[in-house]
Amino acid sequence: MSAEMCICPYNKSHVVTRLRLPYHIIKCKARYPDIQLIHCPYNATHMVKKESMVDHLKECPDKVLIEPWKYNLNGTQQHGDLIPTTFNDEESVQNNYDDDDGWN
Ligand SMILES: [Zn+2]
Ligand SMILES: [Zn+2]
Repeated sequence: MSAEMCICPYNKSHVVTRLRLPYHIIKCKARYPDIQLIHCPYNATHMVKKESMVDHLKECPDKVLIEPWKYNLNGTQQHGDLIPTTFNDEESVQNNYDDDDGWN
């Protein structure tokens, strides 16, 4: 068993592989319309209940990958010279995920 297992953010009794999680979440999103999840700022594949985000951010395994200056890219300040290629990768992952979301 090599697949990494993840717990569904909508229902802790749902355990799915990390690769299946985005698709599973789309289904659970329809099943639990009352539960509002937000994307983790460090990893778009992390979806956490709004009230649980503070706790998630404390233990998010991906938070070390992001430098604080990256947030400036979303604001008014531009530091184009500092954009690493990893940022572009994360951006495309997020876009793909949003496409799935709209497909739902
Ligand atoms: Zn689920
Ligand atoms: Zn996270």
